[in-house]
Amino acid sequence: MSLQVHHTVGEFRNACDRVRSAGGSLGLVPTMGALHAGHLALVDAAKSRASHAALTIFVNPTQFGPNEDFARYPRTLERDLALCAERGVDHVFAPSVEQMYPPGEKTRVSVQGLVDVLCGPKRPGHFEGVATIVSKLFNVAGPCVAVFGRKDYQQLQVIRRMAADLLMPVEVVGHPIVRESDGLALSSRNAFLSPEERSRAPIIARELARARAAFERGERNAGSLRRPIESALERAGLRLDYVEITSADELEPISDQAELSPRALLAIAAFLGKTRLIDNLVLGEDPDPTAGSLA
Ligand code: AMP
Repeated sequence: MSLQVHHTVGEFRNACDRVRSAGGSLGLVPTMGALHAGHLALVDAAKSRASHAALTIFVNPTQFGPNEDFARYPRTLERDLALCAERGVDHVFAPSVEQMYPPGEKTRVSVQGLVDVLCGPKRPGHFEGVATIVSKLFNVAGPCVAVFGRKDYQQLQVIRRMAADLLMPVEVVGHPIVRESDGLALSSRNAFLSPEERSRAPIIARELARARAAFERGERNAGSLRRPIESALERAGLRLDYVEITSADELEPISDQAELSPRALLAIAAFLGKTRLIDNLVLGEDPDPTAGSLA
């Protein structure tokens, strides 16, 4: 079947209903567009779990803060549609802001606790915007398998919690981070990096790899793993937003004095010029991020 593109809630809802009433199942991949190989890997994962893949493209205004990059976020719809057709996506949903936020709208979805760490305090309101738009997309698509990247690890945990708490008929699947061969996590925002910034960007993955190697050698002190990363990133001229270690599922903060359990999340957010990059690794679980692309 060739790609069908929908711009209204009604059209997309009907298309998803038709998939299920014909005995099929739906694999949903929510994105903000400017697609890259990371998004396309999520499409493959959706196709392996469901008979039909649907990808949504919506730059969601409510998840951007007032001083963030909503206006300049890359929008490349024609190219995105071509990539989707080539990759075998069945349905794309690319709605307007008015479709997703009807006039007079007043409702937000908020998940407690999980948003008090990492990106939460740095981007007030961000996860409320994410939970709100993802619950709307789930409500339009209906029962489905939904695939999210572990690059946005905290987002994945927030969505898992939301879907479970609100009894949504959705199976949430987390997909490994897709990286460039030098370790840099693929991101639509990488397009903002100048060639010089791009050449420095892999230091984030290299520092994750260094901490991972120390952990594998038996280092369990959180501060000894975390602090050298801060120094190395600062020395390389990045402006740190955070380098944090938390528990891998509940995202409970782990202090520098604590000894780590066999699994813990190490997460980094840092600015390279004006571009904010995020990356993470679950110590005791994830492979070396500099060991070659997962794509
Ligand atoms: P975005 O368009 O940036 O909102 O991302 C849409 C989805 O793609 C989210 O579930 C992201 O976590 C996922 N994603 C983005 N970059 C990557 C990557 N490098 N590897 C895996 N998933 C990714």
